[in-house]
Amino acid sequence: MDNQAFRDWVVRAAEWAADYRATLAERPVRAQTKPGAVAAQLPPRAPETAEPMADIFADFERVVLPGMTHWQHPRFFAYFPANAAPVSVIAEILVSAMAAQCMLWQTSPAATEMETVVLQWLRDAIGLPEGFHGVIQDSASSATLAAILTMRERALGFAGNRQGLAAHARVRIYASHEVHSSIDKAVWIAGIGQDNLVRIPTRGPSRAMDTEALESAIAADRAAGLLPAGIVACVGGTSVGAADDVAATSAIAQRYGLYLHVDAAWAGAAMICPEFRAMWQGIEQADSLVLNPHKWLGAQFDCSAHFVRDPAALVRTLAVEPEFLRTYGREGIVNYSEWSIPLGRRFRALKLWFLLRAHGLEGLRAMIRDHVRWSQALARRLAATAGFALVTEPVLSLFSFRHDPGDGRDLDAHNLALVAAINDDGRLYLTQTRVDGRVAIRFQVGAMTTSEADIDLAFDVIRAIAGRLS
Ligand SMILES: *Cc1c(COP(=O)(O)O)cnc(C)c1O
Repeated sequence: MDNQAFRDWVVRAAEWAADYRATLAERPVRAQTKPGAVAAQLPPRAPETAEPMADIFADFERVVLPGMTHWQHPRFFAYFPANAAPVSVIAEILVSAMAAQCMLWQTSPAATEMETVVLQWLRDAIGLPEGFHGVIQDSASSATLAAILTMRERALGFAGNRQGLAAHARVRIYASHEVHSSIDKAVWIAGIGQDNLVRIPTRGPSRAMDTEALESAIAADRAAGLLPAGIVACVGGTSVGAADDVAATSAIAQRYGLYLHVDAAWAGAAMICPEFRAMWQGIEQADSLVLNPHKWLGAQFDCSAHFVRDPAALVRTLAVEPEFLRTYGREGIVNYSEWSIPLGRRFRALKLWFLLRAHGLEGLRAMIRDHVRWSQALARRLAATAGFALVTEPVLSLFSFRHDPGDGRDLDAHNLALVAAINDDGRLYLTQTRVDGRVAIRFQVGAMTTSEADIDLAFDVIRAIAGRLS
């Protein structure tokens, strides 16, 4: 592609993007496609000869678009949000154009230094003390894997990478059942094994780990000659927003010399609002935490903020420094590949810089406060409507509910059918979860494009479809 054609097509893509955003609300939220339908429209082999861009672009609109679920849709109420504020999309276009590898300071000085500075901005914005240092990972899953590897290495005196785990007592990690599956995966990948992820029961409406049970599990493991290494706490669990008591958990971590990692992938964004910080009270005592600006805050995926109190322990765990990567820069330079699992890194800080400047913290706080208020109002409205009951109270902007037509039918099957019917209708997108073994419908408000009118429409659609199925 020559430069003139590149110019024309970039403009065309930008215009397409703006049109897409302008007409998003008219599309069904969840793709209405059947499994295999997209693949069936793609030829089985790559073309031997070049095809015209116009054909490729036309096929993109014809084949791809109908097979997409629209995460930027104003009535996306499923999972958690994956916002991409338009300003962060613009930053990503610039990043794509430069396509730099940001593994070392030398390969990307501006990206490296901006990453340090914008994460200091974010650290201060969420009320973390200055002792925390940040790095942008591709996902919360990667940040948590890095944390679990650091826990393991710290407990093994940093000998695990060299000696493997067979030479040592069994490493033990503690978490409740409310934590995200990325904790399980991290424990597998770290070689610790699922059997050494000790599940601590929860109690109370916040579904926090029972800290007495946590302490007894650690003490019992120690007495049995096992090696307690760390605790993973969650603040805003994926299912219904469970939150561990970070202060009480960190007191135990300190008493036993364990590492504490806090997964606040979703809820962490809300901590830019001081009134929500009680939810993670004690966070300054954690060894590390992760929050995803690519969820609620509006930085296009991927952008996961990983804060650590002791970067040296992380770097000692993850840095390999083959000779060809050694850079003899000035003292104090940071090579962020030593803080991450992959070597190659994208310039992720730029979109966060664009976002924080273009919206301002006040703009982002106003959005999050609206979402929380609207979600809580909808929860109250549903709770007051015949046939509906809340299963879990709102945590920030997430709650869960069930519908009961009152005719004695199987309510798990009925509520699954209700979710499916709502998503087939296309005006909303919701997902289900299980709470204490029973199906519940999750509702979260988090899309930047959502307005209060979308919440009113959601109420009408949910009530009408539930009525139709009754
Ligand atoms: C979304 C989420 C994750 C996973 O985040 P990725 O960035 O997709 O890896 C982990 N934990 C919690 C609590 C989440 O909400």
